Amino acid sequence: MINDFRLSPHFKLCEFQCRCCGAVKLSPKLLDMLEELRAEWGAPLIVTSGFRCVPHNNAVGGALRSTHLDGRAADVFARPAAQLSLRRAAELIGFSEVICGGKRNYIHLAIERDASE
Ligand SMILES: [Zn+2]
Ligand SMILES: [Zn+2]
Repeated sequence: MINDFRLSPHFKLCEFQCRCCGAVKLSPKLLDMLEELRAEWGAPLIVTSGFRCVPHNNAVGGALRSTHLDGRAADVFARPAAQLSLRRAAELIGFSEVICGGKRNYIHLAIERDASE
């Protein structure tokens, strides 16, 4: 299967593909930080939304300039009871956007654009 291979010890490229069309962009820094968070958290992090094309971002009600549009964001499955501790861990690692989805069972994690991008 296309893109079904490991990019890092715990994540595959296909996990970051747009859910509607399979397009994908992924910041290597985001991947590194997700691995760091995975190590800190000690349990699997399931990506529920990675890269989004513009139509898919609109379809799911994403922000106009969402960080999902340029491969700098991932939503990770997290039940409400886990969100606060996951948020603390993510903030310590340095994610610039950490948004708890509450009953929607996810936490949004994103990084800032590099000066070089
Ligand atoms: Zn798409
Ligand atoms: Zn998100």
